Amino acid sequence: MTKFIIEPAAQACLPVRGSDALFPVRRVYCIGRNYAAHTIEMGGDPDREEPFFFQKNAQNVDASGEFPYPPESSDVHHEMELVVALHSGGANISVGDALTHVFGYAPGLDMTRRDLQAQAKETRRPWEPGKAFERSAPMGELVPASECGHPESGRITLRVNGEVRQDGDVNQMIWKVPEMIAYLSRFYDIAAGDLVMSGTPSGVGAVHKGDVLEGHIDGVGDLHCKVV
Ligand code: MN
Repeated sequence: MTKFIIEPAAQACLPVRGSDALFPVRRVYCIGRNYAAHTIEMGGDPDREEPFFFQKNAQNVDASGEFPYPPESSDVHHEMELVVALHSGGANISVGDALTHVFGYAPGLDMTRRDLQAQAKETRRPWEPGKAFERSAPMGELVPASECGHPESGRITLRVNGEVRQDGDVNQMIWKVPEMIAYLSRFYDIAAGDLVMSGTPSGVGAVHKGDVLEGHIDGVGDLHCKVV
């Protein structure tokens, strides 16, 4: 048995619908500006430029249903996203083979310290302080693709305190799920346990302590999260 010099960190996990076994999270890749309307609201050009990705840490993933408002920011935004979970991977995966690596899908939030992200953009510094902070990736349960298929269309919404703030369709993604997987596998050895957060529709906005966030993706499921 392996001996560790200090206690290893707990494995980050997601619950899986219909199973008492958990999905162990390895890496979290997130695409930027993948819905045209959101690209425009963030001041970008929605033409199909090369995709770009950043990462969150596996231990930022949180299925507790609570999002603690983080320190060092006064402008924390919600970004409702379809999360793709892989059960296998590799390098240089073709678009045609990409979906064979998908275990399933979950609703997720790419919580963002928008003020720190804006500062980073302005000063050409890394995005981690804006994106990869504690519990910055609230998620609902994973649904196996064997149950939900591979959603190519379907409404994706986020309500805050009952009011619809984000309302899009996953068919509005500029880069589709197989294309994102193929693209990532050119740069990284992607693997079982990896998650891909596939971008957010327009309507991102600030959250405040006490807010109740309710995400929904047709055919995938719901996410409930309270800002505390
Ligand atoms: Mn995002």
